Amino acid sequence: MAWLENLKDIEELEDAEFDPGLVAEMERLAPGNAQRMVRFSTPTFKEYESSELQSCGKNSFPAFSITAGGCALMCDHCEAKILEPMIPAVKPEILDRKVRDLIETENLQGFLLSGGSNKRNEIRYSRFYPVIEQLKRDYPGLRVAIHTALTDEAGAREMESAGVDVAMLDIIGAEETIREVYHLDRPVDDFESTVAALCATSMQISPHIVIGLHYGRILGEENALDILSRYDTKALVLVVIMPFYAKPGTFVTPDTSDVGRIFLEARKRLPDRQVLLGCARPPGMHKRVTDAYAVMAGLDGIAFPADGAVAVADMTGRPFHQAHACCSIKLGETSASSGIATLARSSCAA
Ligand code: SF4
Repeated sequence: MAWLENLKDIEELEDAEFDPGLVAEMERLAPGNAQRMVRFSTPTFKEYESSELQSCGKNSFPAFSITAGGCALMCDHCEAKILEPMIPAVKPEILDRKVRDLIETENLQGFLLSGGSNKRNEIRYSRFYPVIEQLKRDYPGLRVAIHTALTDEAGAREMESAGVDVAMLDIIGAEETIREVYHLDRPVDDFESTVAALCATSMQISPHIVIGLHYGRILGEENALDILSRYDTKALVLVVIMPFYAKPGTFVTPDTSDVGRIFLEARKRLPDRQVLLGCARPPGMHKRVTDAYAVMAGLDGIAFPADGAVAVADMTGRPFHQAHACCSIKLGETSASSGIATLARSSCAA
């Protein structure tokens, strides 16, 4: 029980409550993760500073929404609020101008293209692809990520031809969640076939699983892990539902120990993938404990790490480094080992 005792010595975690059995299980499995580098990502979507790390403070990887704040699906956990802080770019020429401006003024190196979806959880990006193509021609180093929403083989190929580097989507493993939370009449199989279509391209695929998506309960997460285990996606991003986006009283906050168990399950089922903790998760002490579990479970990266995460990495003996980029894309790196795809800002279903 060394880890449980050692956690008490970390100042940022002195009021934290950990599940002793879960910590012991993580410690037991730790030798398999000892050499895994932890990447602490501090993307530039928002100002960030912890007691241990600082952001680079430049708008080098912003998110754009092609529908501004609009979304036809209005999922219960989001109600389109995830789109609010994104830069609106409702016409291709607006996207083009804003990207070029930010390259000049803010050292933009890449961006996430997102938007609200239609009632079938699809986003109509086609008219933006010529702009992406031209931007990629003019700035070959530019990295472009996209929230794919649900798509098919033709849609996936269109994204690839436009030069999109990273395709991101949420994988939902329970029909009830699709129906009730998303108000969407499509089967789990459509999420799997979207993964299959994207995996048939050369894009990096960055699937996300939102832990607690079913009103804060654990329901389809393990099935979602099973789906992903059937495809070679290289990376998986886990995020935790943030109930404060939802109507009051509709969601509970998942227990940190339930979240930690999914981390461990993901690590066990996907031993050869990059498994990363993305931006979205409840704040405060919940986040500190969640991030500590992520490090102890052997996840490969954490976006906007909470205070104490670096100390937990030290405690476990895992090496770590900091990256000023969307955890989806390690800007400026091209080696196979750095071809890691995960999410940018959070868990748009889209
Ligand atoms: S998760 Fe995506 S599809 Fe659902 S409401 Fe939010 S923006 Fe719309």
